[in-house]
Amino acid sequence: MSNEASYLFYQSRNPRPFLDRGEGIYLFDENGKRYIDGSSGAMVSNIGHSNPRVLAKIKAQMDRATFGYRLHFRTHPSEDLAAKTVSLMPAGLDRVFFVSGGSEAVESAVKLARQYALTQGQPQRYKVISRFPSYHGCTFGALDLTGYDPLREPFAPMLAGMPKVPAPATYLDRDNLTEEARGLKYAELLRDQIVQEGPENVLAFVMEPVGGASTGALVAPDSYYGRVREICDEFGVLLIYDEVMTGAGRTGKFLAAEHWGITPDIVAMSKGFGAGYAPLGAIVAGKRLVEPVLDAGGFQHGFTYAGNPLACAAGLAVLEEMEEQGLVENAARMGKVLMAELESLMERYPFIGDVRGKGLLTAFEFVSDRNTMAPLPVGLDAHTRLVELAYARGLIIYSRRTRGGTSGDHFLVAPPLIITEPQIRDMMAILRDAIEAFAQ
Ligand code: PMP
Repeated sequence: MSNEASYLFYQSRNPRPFLDRGEGIYLFDENGKRYIDGSSGAMVSNIGHSNPRVLAKIKAQMDRATFGYRLHFRTHPSEDLAAKTVSLMPAGLDRVFFVSGGSEAVESAVKLARQYALTQGQPQRYKVISRFPSYHGCTFGALDLTGYDPLREPFAPMLAGMPKVPAPATYLDRDNLTEEARGLKYAELLRDQIVQEGPENVLAFVMEPVGGASTGALVAPDSYYGRVREICDEFGVLLIYDEVMTGAGRTGKFLAAEHWGITPDIVAMSKGFGAGYAPLGAIVAGKRLVEPVLDAGGFQHGFTYAGNPLACAAGLAVLEEMEEQGLVENAARMGKVLMAELESLMERYPFIGDVRGKGLLTAFEFVSDRNTMAPLPVGLDAHTRLVELAYARGLIIYSRRTRGGTSGDHFLVAPPLIITEPQIRDMMAILRDAIEAFAQ
């Protein structure tokens, strides 16, 4: 079928070849060309493609029942997946609500926070502070929390216009502070914002613990995380971690929050949680938040497909597979190999201004000058050009303009967590070749 005959529309007309099949870290198009899935789709396919054990478990559930509405039946897959999820969480996060995707998870987290505030007699708490740059989803509520201009502008003024504080992009800072002091400086910007908004009006602060699409795997200084937790506690502001991209092992811990010993009030997950085997997401919160909401008549929220047994059976099979193969540990180990490879690329190409990340969520950023970190000219469209050069060579990577979508080019390298060291070397050889072609 030619593209002209397509009835679909996405961001643009779709020039890509038809997908035929997947196997492990590879995808094959209908012409038989092989691609390394160097971005796990959009950081989704954590356990790789077409895992036969997972497929068998999904098929077994299909043969029993594909759908049972959650208000009509409890189902074993949803109960079992909830129990498994809680077993992987920091202590105190022990209640689960399923959704079908990341935007839904973020909005569900905010609605849970809001209903909790009502049970506490605090109806005036409605403001949700987020960061700039950030990405939290494409539905109106999640988009209003998103700090990425090109995605926001067509729909402005959206809902209420939520306040934003800078995400700690310390790699761009040219001050004399230590990393620790920089982390604390950015945390204090949150405190200032809460004070300015009137702490009694602030419901929640939402952040990606490691940035994703909007920032390119931005990691804050260690000092930032604990101080943000303290500031939220000081003012009774709920801390929501958007772990849609970072959750389910991507950064080398099951939740990225674990790297800093943080227990958020609510965690939003999706992407790797269903790992491409089902549209699936979840929010996880503690009894402390959830029980008062249930006592007050229940969470007034829910999507038709939330917690359906087929998606939950897939999610459970994914988590079991991750455990059996030790994929969280593999992400931590392979993340180090990948980072060393990226650092050697940076030594070789002066227009790579920064490499960063955690586990298998890594990125590199192009600049025109490493001293000033001035970006390449927007007109060069480096972020789309390099992606095409890699694609032609059989490697899929994920790129965006950085700095909130206003300029710059960053590239996410985030292969499935099953990747091996020789496969990383193969992937990086293709990437080096594509960058070499870009440099010509
Ligand atoms: N939050 C984060 C951190 C994300 O990376 C994404 C997806 N890129 C979303 C939310 C939205 O998820 P979805 O596209 O599944 O709605």
